[in-house]
Amino acid sequence: MPIWNPWHGCRKISPGCANCYVYRRDESIGKDASVVAKTKDFDLPLKKNRKGEYKLKPDDGVVFACMTSDFFLDTADEWRRECWYMIRERQDLHFHIITKRIDRFEQCVPPAWGSGWENVTICSTCENQDRTDFRLPILLSLPIKHREVICEPMLGEIDMEKYLKTGLIGHVTCGGESGNNARPCDFRWIQEVRRECIRCGVPFTFKQTGAVFIKDGRTYRIDRSIQMAQAKKSGYSYTPGTGCADAIKYVLPNRNALFSRLARSDFRNRFHLTDKDRQYVREKGFETIKSHAADFVAKRLSPENPANDGKQTPMKGHPVFLAQHATACCCRGCLEKWHNIPSGKILNTGEQAYIVDVLMDWINREMHGTK
Ligand code: SF4
Ligand SMILES: [Zn+2]
Repeated sequence: MPIWNPWHGCRKISPGCANCYVYRRDESIGKDASVVAKTKDFDLPLKKNRKGEYKLKPDDGVVFACMTSDFFLDTADEWRRECWYMIRERQDLHFHIITKRIDRFEQCVPPAWGSGWENVTICSTCENQDRTDFRLPILLSLPIKHREVICEPMLGEIDMEKYLKTGLIGHVTCGGESGNNARPCDFRWIQEVRRECIRCGVPFTFKQTGAVFIKDGRTYRIDRSIQMAQAKKSGYSYTPGTGCADAIKYVLPNRNALFSRLARSDFRNRFHLTDKDRQYVREKGFETIKSHAADFVAKRLSPENPANDGKQTPMKGHPVFLAQHATACCCRGCLEKWHNIPSGKILNTGEQAYIVDVLMDWINREMHGTK
């Protein structure tokens, strides 16, 4: 994963900053991390090699921005505008920005930000309950296309379910603190956030144990070299739809198994595209139909309690409506019964994308005669 550090150095503002690794690393080489300065890599996203190609290639993966500072640090206010320009220029890259200063976001985005940029993920750090309750309402209220949360170093028990329920948080990562002065991280805290993620269908990653790890009341000192490996070994990360034991309710069905079950239902089998529908799909093209599907799913299916549930999908008039009935994506009752997606909660972005995929898969099968 490429890292882009446009400037280096930061100012501590939060309990999570106490043992900041930027400070620790700088101290070890006699440098003062509170001095903030632009780096020679400031314009990395636009840098080219001798052949005139960009140094950062889309295939290199997500670009982590500002890992030795905070992107929204006030000292960097005059430099940030140029960074936004570079981010905008490189639509082919995805930028991941982690911040403890989400409260400065609004005054830091350019006018062109509008309703958010598709190629930017904003990740707010929440190390304890107090900072979670301060930052997450702000994160949720802002125009951002991709939001994530990091509880690292996790310093206490955190309840974030009410924020996860909004369906607006795409990923949560938890982990302990490393270094000689590391504060302890209790496995119970990690377990609780993970349970909340599972209930809300939000992907979860347990990234590292930290140096002082409490499990079942016992305290363990974990060597730096295995802190990440131990977390990984625990098998504790969770992806909706991949089926871990306590996520049974959320295991999304395997596509082929779903289609063969649907094929055995007389009711579902009644729905097919008419000649007029096929004509419409050909005229509009798949991408447009897919955007209609995403729109119907977002507006008519995603709310916690959709209006007219059970009757919100017309029987004809659009190929997507037919696809919804044919695949049991017509209402929340059918989504629960056929797809294991619980009613009474907002559909998160992963679930919405899954439904759109199923609908487009059915339309594709109808158009090409594979059933
Ligand atoms: S905001 Fe991040 S980089 Fe800045 S001092 Fe705190 S932990 Fe360190
Ligand atoms: Zn239904």
